[in-house]
Amino acid sequence: MSTGDYAIIDIHAHFCSEKELEIRRNHSICTCFSSGTPGEWESIKQFRKREELMFSFGIHPWYADRYEAGDCGDYLRECDMVGEIGMDSVWCRVPLAIQQKRFEKQLQIAADLGKPVILHTKGQESRIAEILRDFPGRACVHWYSGGRKEFEKFLDMDCFFTLGPDIAEVCRNRRGEKFGIYRLMMKEIPAERMFVETDGIPAVAWIRGTEDVKPEELPVVLKKNMEFAAAVKKMKAQELAKQMQRNLLMMLNRS
Ligand SMILES: [Zn+2]
Repeated sequence: MSTGDYAIIDIHAHFCSEKELEIRRNHSICTCFSSGTPGEWESIKQFRKREELMFSFGIHPWYADRYEAGDCGDYLRECDMVGEIGMDSVWCRVPLAIQQKRFEKQLQIAADLGKPVILHTKGQESRIAEILRDFPGRACVHWYSGGRKEFEKFLDMDCFFTLGPDIAEVCRNRRGEKFGIYRLMMKEIPAERMFVETDGIPAVAWIRGTEDVKPEELPVVLKKNMEFAAAVKKMKAQELAKQMQRNLLMMLNRS
């Protein structure tokens, strides 16, 4: 399936293979690849000249005990956005004090460099919303699935949000633990603060409960979610895709 005649931004993905790059390019997908470790950055930086790609770098909370922000200065300077950074008390056992220290330091660096941040908030939504109050730049909350109260805080702070790759499926099936918050997000996040993402092939495999996801599935997921979100917002998919391009410029402070 093609994404048709409009270009889509995949605001957050993790790189898997060169085959994926071809598919993304052929489907007019502009991708921001996220590196969570220096090793990931080293393996992807060879593609930095490709004009359809952007790059984010941030010590992922899962690896917060392995790397210091101070050792990653070059990556943080070279990337387009800082992230994904944040905290996680659901899928990771790194002590929260260490995670918070790494997170705050990287927020400070992003503020100094004037770069937006991509946030990973799993289980720590409340604390992250508090910490973010002092951040002067633009922030994008990635694949939010926390509580309503915390969601409203991020919304009040004028954050951008990505819709998780499972959003259309969960909302159409109208069940599962994420349905309540996803429904609220679809209603309340304005098109001017919205992005779609895949989070990469492993995430798509995870939501489908399979190991076998081909890169050809990536445009299908993006298009499905774009069309779903556009229908909710009473827009054409092309219009919403264009709005997301403007959102990106705004997030990067280039509008
Ligand atoms: Zn991710």
